[in-house]
Amino acid sequence: MARYTESSCRRCRRYGAKLFLKGDRCSSEKCAFDRRKYVPGQHGNTGRRVKVTDFGIHLVEKQKAKFYYGLMERQFARYYNEASKQRKIPTGDRLIQLLELRLDNVLYRLGIAPSRPMARQMVLHRKVFVNNHYVNIPSFRVKVGDIITFKSEVKDNVYVKHSLERNLAIPEWLSFDASAYQAEVLNLPDKETANAPFNDQLIVEFYSK
Ligand code: SF4
Repeated sequence: MARYTESSCRRCRRYGAKLFLKGDRCSSEKCAFDRRKYVPGQHGNTGRRVKVTDFGIHLVEKQKAKFYYGLMERQFARYYNEASKQRKIPTGDRLIQLLELRLDNVLYRLGIAPSRPMARQMVLHRKVFVNNHYVNIPSFRVKVGDIITFKSEVKDNVYVKHSLERNLAIPEWLSFDASAYQAEVLNLPDKETANAPFNDQLIVEFYSK
């Protein structure tokens, strides 16, 4: 399957939402989406309304979610399949919960990494422990009670320091002791705390068609 090669900022502009793919830049005045709220390309700013089909509306929401969490098509479909096979909570809620429980997302939510792609790098480079064991799989699913710690060199990393200086609000389902660089998963995440920039119901309809 071909890899999606469009630049991060163009993806935000194409799908009409801030997907926070570039760390600091996303919250600065340099954000391309804030400066140019029209689709990229030669005819993006002509003011002409392009008719979007019903399929297109649903597809856009799925694409937004996929890029927001940095997944490939097949990985995302696997999360949807798993979410749809349970009956305890609505499929869309469970889908978001599963995506939020990824280790790379947890590092991003803790503010340790300024973006999910950088969180992913940190995990791949074996800088993260879960319950005292190395984990180098970005999709690793954390569970309630897990303790997340970091290799000592992470504390001296300028990007990490800079990222933590942003003092991001940490979601209630996580706790973080910044002096010890230790985090704990307190609860399961939910849709409200995720505050994701896509409509999960439209994603469920996309896959149900
Ligand atoms: Fe680029 Fe981040 Fe703004 Fe998206 S949110 S357009 S990735 S700077």
